[in-house]
Amino acid sequence: MARIELNEVAHSYLPKPRTDSDYALKRIHNVWEDGAACALLGPSGCGKTTLLNIVSGLLGPSKGRVLYDGKDVTALPPEKRNIAQVFQFPVLYDTMSVYNNLAFPLRNRGVNETQVRERVLEIADILDLTDFLKKRAAGLAADAKQKISLGRGLVRSDVAAILFDEPLTVIDPQLKWHLRRKLKEIHEKLKLTFIYVTHDQVEALTFADQVAVMYEGEMVQIGSPQELFENPQHRFVGYFIGSPGMNFLKCTLDGNHARVNGTDIKLDAATAEKGRNKKGNFELGIRPMYLGVHTEPGDNRVKAAVRMIEDQGSNKIVTLKLGNSTLKASVFEDRPVPEKTAYLSFPPEWIRLFADGWLIK
Ligand code: ATP
Repeated sequence: MARIELNEVAHSYLPKPRTDSDYALKRIHNVWEDGAACALLGPSGCGKTTLLNIVSGLLGPSKGRVLYDGKDVTALPPEKRNIAQVFQFPVLYDTMSVYNNLAFPLRNRGVNETQVRERVLEIADILDLTDFLKKRAAGLAADAKQKISLGRGLVRSDVAAILFDEPLTVIDPQLKWHLRRKLKEIHEKLKLTFIYVTHDQVEALTFADQVAVMYEGEMVQIGSPQELFENPQHRFVGYFIGSPGMNFLKCTLDGNHARVNGTDIKLDAATAEKGRNKKGNFELGIRPMYLGVHTEPGDNRVKAAVRMIEDQGSNKIVTLKLGNSTLKASVFEDRPVPEKTAYLSFPPEWIRLFADGWLIK
């Protein structure tokens, strides 16, 4: 396994890039520690696959260097980097049995048959493929085929890292949950360096200890799922993580208050202090689950109009209008929700302030 380092990496698909927007990857400076379970999370087109291809060697970066355990591998092709890759769609030999498919990467490296057998049986057991080992891959369903692809990626224990590019796309939703848990278990057991690309936050947050959120060719935040949820460093992270995402309200600051559409919202002393020395366009951020929705007015409650209530079973998502701004609140199923007018409370400890899109620290 290896520690993988990206040193000032940038990439443009244009022959003569001029401005920042000509770069699919703007400036990536990052280290994935040996044995880490990392996810690259971001919307379509933010540069995830480009970055993964630079790590694997399928693509050479326009700028910067890639280091494996301190050794510069930027100019090395994939086969010299000793990595395994699992792609979005199954990559296997249809005419071979499942056993032979799993054994292939090991036999290719000259591993002896006793060890091949041991490892294939172990991986087949982890992925629930034991009953299929004698079957030909051709006749199997798409999700079973993708499990074989995963198995082929996992079977070698001597790789520097395993790179996964949206590997669960073709898998049924129910099985997806199961496989996500499996991958986490496998990581804990085998201690391999996993880099996992996805646009699905649930997939990233359940799988990885460390998630890098990408936006327009940059890593805007790297952190644990809890850090990303509680302290998003950029408004994009707040919006992208969580369902629904964080609410953002344009505001001005006045002493210990944020003023939103002429209404004052109380801040805690530390947050107000952080904002005092800052300039820029301010926004107040609060997660839907922390926004209090009440039927009666009260201290530090703000009047808002109820626009929609969506019942999600265990909770309700309430859409509200505060002046020109739209807010979402997540309310437990058994809590009353007013039909027309609600009184909102903003717990100061859950208010985050942003200036020009970035969290004020
Ligand atoms: P997706 O989830 O849709 O695959 P992504 O986050 O993996 O998206 P990339 O595929 O890395 O993003 O694409 C990043 C940017 O680079 C996009 O603007 C894309 O159009 C562009 N791009 C990707 N591959 C090429 C290519 N071969 N030639 C030119 N532009 C490309």
